[in-house]
Amino acid sequence: MQYRVEGLVIRSTDYGEGNKIVTLLTNTHGKVGIIIRGAKKAKSRHGSLAQLFTHGEFIYFRNTGLGTLTHGEIIESHHVLREGLELAAYASYAAELTDRALQEDEATAYIFEQLKGFFTALEEGKDPEVTTYIYELKMLQAAGYAPDFDTCMSCGNVVGSMVLSARGGGVLCSRCSYRDPQALALSDGALKLLRVFRQMDLRRLGQIQVKPETKKLLKQGMRQLMDQHIGLQLKSRAFLDQLDKYNLE
Ligand SMILES: [Zn+2]
Repeated sequence: MQYRVEGLVIRSTDYGEGNKIVTLLTNTHGKVGIIIRGAKKAKSRHGSLAQLFTHGEFIYFRNTGLGTLTHGEIIESHHVLREGLELAAYASYAAELTDRALQEDEATAYIFEQLKGFFTALEEGKDPEVTTYIYELKMLQAAGYAPDFDTCMSCGNVVGSMVLSARGGGVLCSRCSYRDPQALALSDGALKLLRVFRQMDLRRLGQIQVKPETKKLLKQGMRQLMDQHIGLQLKSRAFLDQLDKYNLE
């Protein structure tokens, strides 16, 4: 059967003599694996369609297993994301996370739009860390672990300061914080931003200024949530951590 999909390349690996296998996140068919024959040859018309982060239209033939590309057009190459070390690191992380963390039925049209928005936001120079936290929250929601930052998990209180309990996947108010000794104390600024991020649509992301101390808390909190609920060892994550260390020195 022939399929026509709009997709983002979230994984690309060499396969046999001059071919590539790509994983696409599509807007209609979830995640799809297709072979792009001859993609590595210099004269290949389809070589650029096999590059990571490419947004394109892909027409492929598939009976069972992997599909085979018959034709395709680039909609947006996102080449900027492949050129700089830092942007490439963030974009790779989002792509690998999407590839590894999402079950087939969780890879919805909404996630496709959010990843597309994520790539565009990075290209437009939006803060890559903030953009990544928002995308991570979309991933947590898609995987069924949407954290609630508004209501105390224990008593339902919605006012006052809160601590983040990664283990519980939500927040605890000051009266209930003893229930999770490992919980992270959030500043008012960090709590407010987490609430905003959770609702935010990456297609409509503006410039967000975040103070360094708030960013540090967000980073800790998001890392704890991701480790607790997604818990994947990602190569791209390790690379981002290395970059981070390098930036601090
Ligand atoms: Zn409470």
